[in-house]
Amino acid sequence: MKIIVCVKQVPDTSGKVAVNPDGTLNRASMAAITNPDDLNAVEAALSLKEQTGAEIIVVSMGPPPAEGMLREVMARGVDRAVLVSGREFGGSDTYATSQILAAAINKIGVGPEDIVMCGRQAIDGDTAQVGPQIAEKLGLPQVSYAAEIKKDGDTLTIKRMLEDGYMTIKVKTPCLITCIKELNTPRYMSVNGIFECYAKPYEIFDYNTLKDDPLIDPSTIGLKGSPTNIFKSFTPPQKGVGMMLEGADKATCDKLAGILAAKHMI
Ligand SMILES: Cc1cc2nc3c(=O)[nH]c(=O)nc-3n(C[C@H](O)[C@H](O)[C@H](O)COP(=O)(O)OP(=O)(O)OC[C@H]3O[C@@H](n4cnc5c(N)ncnc54)[C@H](O)[C@@H]3O)c2cc1C
Repeated sequence: MKIIVCVKQVPDTSGKVAVNPDGTLNRASMAAITNPDDLNAVEAALSLKEQTGAEIIVVSMGPPPAEGMLREVMARGVDRAVLVSGREFGGSDTYATSQILAAAINKIGVGPEDIVMCGRQAIDGDTAQVGPQIAEKLGLPQVSYAAEIKKDGDTLTIKRMLEDGYMTIKVKTPCLITCIKELNTPRYMSVNGIFECYAKPYEIFDYNTLKDDPLIDPSTIGLKGSPTNIFKSFTPPQKGVGMMLEGADKATCDKLAGILAAKHMI
């Protein structure tokens, strides 16, 4: 059994987000980290590995420096890493990204007992579209927003988070799951893991490696194959000065309620 986990390297947007004078994101001034939800997916895969002895393979599409992130997840216990990297893949939107990642997962191979995992959402693109699109392109059933995963034979019972509660879904392998932070607490790298990660198998899939997959075509990948293009990016305008209401009488309270209701806040 294999568990293939998609991990993305993202700029750390939790601190101060730096913006260039032209309004674009200043990626160079922010540390590159592993997307947080993807660490929950890796942790879920590691606990399934402890129960089943599964092999875990991480896949990331990005530039060569993403190797550092892939070594880090291998130091946590992942068995193998694949970096999908090539100039032809640059500028991909979510459609093209999922097209390329699905081709890479096809190359690794999804068997009847296997599971593909993604984070719910990347903190830079923030679309939460890539996981479900990969499932569509691989023809796999998908369960998103997984907050608990239990495996019994070829059936997974997944507690899926909704806005106002949970639903429990049973799904058979092979399937794709997108993971959220409520699922678990990611473990740290171990000292042995750090020593061992440099000896673990690490492969690069470039355009030539994937070009024979029917999903890979110049019209479906990269900037040219992306149905959406970022036309303009800008920093949201700052909110104006606050408003003070004084008094504890009913008229003031009614006024406050009216203002909040008009802004759809209550
Ligand atoms: C140079 C450049 C040009 C771009 N141009 C466009 C554009 O023209 N139009 C546009 O709409 N967007 C564009 N993007 C944004 C890009 O499409 C998204 O960053 C990417 O598609 C992933 O979407 P997301 O970040 O919203 O991921 P989400 O859908 O939020 O991610 C969900 C999960 O999918 C997996 N995942 C996502 N991306 C990867 C990855 N690269 N490798 C491995 N796993 C992954 C992870 O498990 C992640 O948790 C561009 C990005 C770059 C760097």
